Amino acid sequence: MTNIPRACVIGNPISHSLSPKLHTYWLNRYGIEGEYTALQVTEDKLEETLRRLPSQGFIGANVTIPHKVSVMQFADQITDRATLIGAANTLIFKEDGRIFADNTDGYGFMANLRQGAPDWDPKAGPAAIFGAGGAARAIIVALADAGVPQIIISNRTRPKAEALRADFGARVSVVDWVQADKMLEEANTVINTTSLGMAGAQEFKVSLNGLQPKTVVTDIVYTPLRTPFLDAAEKKGCITVDGLGMLLHQGVPGFERWFGQRPEVDEATRRAVLG
Ligand code: NAP
Repeated sequence: MTNIPRACVIGNPISHSLSPKLHTYWLNRYGIEGEYTALQVTEDKLEETLRRLPSQGFIGANVTIPHKVSVMQFADQITDRATLIGAANTLIFKEDGRIFADNTDGYGFMANLRQGAPDWDPKAGPAAIFGAGGAARAIIVALADAGVPQIIISNRTRPKAEALRADFGARVSVVDWVQADKMLEEANTVINTTSLGMAGAQEFKVSLNGLQPKTVVTDIVYTPLRTPFLDAAEKKGCITVDGLGMLLHQGVPGFERWFGQRPEVDEATRRAVLG
């Protein structure tokens, strides 16, 4: 076993994850002696793995599908934002074996939007969200925190959107999936958090007729990088931001905590991860 600090991403499946490329690029860029790997872990081995990793030189981990929710039960300390979201994607292993859990998905989402649309003002009007899954939850917490005055959600399975409204209160409202177009007319920000449009998934077929020019539109799907959703928004004169930056920025807080250097997310980082 080496003595260099080690971190990893835990999920199942895990071979598709871009996190090893991202963190290894940052380690090389900043000349840090460290290691970041991918670990495929099944649900029944999750606790055992988490308890074992610190003794093998691991100082932390990212967590991805399907463990983001279940990992919370093994944490000794949980940040407020991870508690609100009900899931964690970043773990820090303390020297005494305790596990600290955070969720940086909402942070990554906001940092990407601010970098891709520097003039975007979250307070300028409602945000319209397609989807009500785990990523939508993290994004709602971040948008509310940034002062977005109203958050409108539309989801194929309406009760899931209603559950988010019940959790996050009066600022959140729900529009039926077949009428999703209507929420776009007054939106200052429009976000696709569904998997529609992702390579291998179904197409995004909801009408976007209501989109207004100059609206900031982002898709958190990043395979392909330019989704049909973003192309349609661009044709309407919207300001579009792709989803890769969300993945890159969500890695920043973990890398900083583990390796002591706040890493840059820039064009070179994007190229390194896509290359
Ligand atoms: P999730 O919890 O499984 O939620 C999936 C969402 O997509 C739900 O709202 C679901 O609606 C909707 N959906 C799926 N198939 C649909 C269909 N055929 N028609 C209409 N809606 C459909 O997944 P998640 O973790 O939120 O992730 C969602 C997407 O975001 C994935 O593509 C993921 O790769 C991407 N993502 C990107 C980042 C990033 O860093 N850029 C981070 C997290 C996630 P129902 O409730 O009706 O099933």
